[in-house]
Amino acid sequence: MEIAVISGKGGTGKSSISAAFATMQPNVVLTDCDVDAANLYILFNPTHEKEEVFVSAYKAVIDKTVCTDCGECIDYCRFDAIHDVGGEVLIDETACDGCKLCARVCPSEAISMIPEDKSRMYSGTFRNGKMVYGRLSPGEENSGRLVDMVREEAKNVAKANNLDTIIIDGPPGIGCSVISTITGVNKVVIVTEPTLSGLHDLKRTIEVVSKFRLTKRLLSINTI
Ligand code: SF4
Ligand code: SF4
Repeated sequence: MEIAVISGKGGTGKSSISAAFATMQPNVVLTDCDVDAANLYILFNPTHEKEEVFVSAYKAVIDKTVCTDCGECIDYCRFDAIHDVGGEVLIDETACDGCKLCARVCPSEAISMIPEDKSRMYSGTFRNGKMVYGRLSPGEENSGRLVDMVREEAKNVAKANNLDTIIIDGPPGIGCSVISTITGVNKVVIVTEPTLSGLHDLKRTIEVVSKFRLTKRLLSINTI
């Protein structure tokens, strides 16, 4: 059984409740899918048995020893990431979407696609079972894909160790990483707080969760 713990807004105590579940139930796979701010590993200090690189995206890089500054690539970039700066053609890596088109059209083959590979997935053992978590490097994208990777590993670990329960600490909000977290789980626990903004975000989260066919939905009010 997979149980996802999520919240419409951050700071409601979602991770504390996930940690409490993992403490109450022996032999679980505790899974931290809050990959932008994973913190359960700090609490449980797992031993690491596996570490895998997550390539979040690719960025275009110009080899200036080969580039002739012809400017041909500029017009092809739909993301306005390539500019002529005083006669020198440069790529703004924060604007680059990694579509690879410039690398294909460059007549000098001066552009390479470099992987963004600082993010990681870890798998190991903690005091109540197994633990899997992802850490997205600051500024890297595609958290939903890292969540998919973490969940896949958690399922494999559960199967290999005959563990029935996977507890997932999800990200806050209603974005794509939340969708990746709750897709296909058996139950969702939504944690909120007794404030107007907490209620507002709770309603939005319920709206998202309601689109999934779940056997049961639990609502937890954290009255901190
Ligand atoms: S098309 Fe290639 S050679 Fe021309 S400016 Fe762009 S990177 Fe440089
Ligand atoms: S990879 Fe795509 S988005 Fe990035 S600079 Fe090249 S054309 Fe622009």
